Amino acid sequence: MKKCKNKKCQRILPEGYERNYCENCRNERIKRIKTTGKSLLGVVAFVGTTALAIVSKGKINPKK
Ligand SMILES: [Zn+2]
Repeated sequence: MKKCKNKKCQRILPEGYERNYCENCRNERIKRIKTTGKSLLGVVAFVGTTALAIVSKGKINPKK
């Protein structure tokens, strides 16, 4: 019998199930990865926009 690798879960996996984690744990993991990815993307977008603003301000100089 295979069990879910998540120590907090330990659900018995159905026969022929090829993954180490049960469906529930997999969904939880995907959700967490997505949330982390989204917040990371938000930070990157924010930093990128700020950097772009600084760079374009330095480049676009009407007095030159
Ligand atoms: Zn599980």
